Amino acid sequence: MINAYAAFEAKGPLKPYQYDPGELGAFDIEIDVDHCGICHSDVSMLDNDWGRAQYPMVAGHEIIGRVSKVGSHVSHLAIGDVVGLGWHSGYCESCRMCMGGDHNLCSTAKGTIVGRHGGFADKVRAQAISAVKIPAGVNPATAGPLLCGGITVYTPLVQVNTSPQSKVAVIGVGGLGHMAVMFLKAWGCEVTAFSSDPSKTDELKSMGAHHVLNSKDADALKKAAGSFDLILSTVNVKLDWNAYIATLAPKGRLHFLGAVLEPLDIGVFGLMGQQRTISSSPVGSPRVIADMLKFAALHNIQPMVETYGFEQINEAVEKVRNGSPRFRVVLSR
Ligand code: NAP
Ligand code: ZN
Repeated sequence: MINAYAAFEAKGPLKPYQYDPGELGAFDIEIDVDHCGICHSDVSMLDNDWGRAQYPMVAGHEIIGRVSKVGSHVSHLAIGDVVGLGWHSGYCESCRMCMGGDHNLCSTAKGTIVGRHGGFADKVRAQAISAVKIPAGVNPATAGPLLCGGITVYTPLVQVNTSPQSKVAVIGVGGLGHMAVMFLKAWGCEVTAFSSDPSKTDELKSMGAHHVLNSKDADALKKAAGSFDLILSTVNVKLDWNAYIATLAPKGRLHFLGAVLEPLDIGVFGLMGQQRTISSSPVGSPRVIADMLKFAALHNIQPMVETYGFEQINEAVEKVRNGSPRFRVVLSR
């Protein structure tokens, strides 16, 4: 049996919950969970903000643990390996996207907490291909957030041709945003952090932001007109997108990572004249996750976390729900 914490209804408290994971599949592994970050997507799933929740729900998809069982066809992982597991815990491995290495775009990829049980538990199961070994130089106690939030902000740097000459802005500096600032600084970019919370300014500068602006200050946006080659939006609320588009340089890109539920109200003329682009992307493939972990080790990028015991899970989830972590909450045992 797996001992987990499940929600039984939207916004309801998490309570101890046991389930039988059944026989281990030939291509699967079981992981003993040591640490699990709490992403805002966990809260959105627990609260059924996206209409995809099934209860009882065991959330948790920023998992670090040790492989404790391997299926008979698993050859690249062994019992005792320290691995990470993120948003996806399986892929079809045969579609055009998987065959091209873009597993994160596989239309039948399995979400770790979508219709299956995740890492708010003592164990979790996954297809072995979706778990990535944690390299030397990465601290397992703080690495969980890299497996979802970290890879989500890292993937665009690889996909969107970001160079040390790029001026890049990050909107919203919570879990995803603070890791974006650290990755962009190490990538060599000129980094601007847009935050609605001025009390974060000193911490953001110490993480590598060259400039910190208020994300709700219309004058600050006006002054930044025509500046950025890339903007990564990590907020899950509607902001004045047309004002942000005006801060893009010619050929600049506004890239959505945060799950805003309201439709985008974007004027095409703000894009057309300067050949600006809007885009979006989900997490990253296992190969890019492995590259990202090596990059994090090389540049000593470590998420800033607040650590809670698993038994404090309700307090920890509430902290993420009300947006107050500095900057990511991690459950540890
Ligand atoms: P988070 O830690 O709660 O951070 C979100 C940040 O947005 C907050 O810290 C805050 O930053 C800003 N914000 C929140 N409410 C705001 C408001 N009313 N006005 C202005 N700014 C506001 O969340 P997260 O875990 O980083 O996740 C961010 C979003 O990304 C979520 O929607 C999540 O579901 C999504 N996500 C997407 C992917 C993907 O694959 N694309 C992966 C993971 C997560 P400041 O205090 O600095 O303003
Ligand atoms: Zn996530």
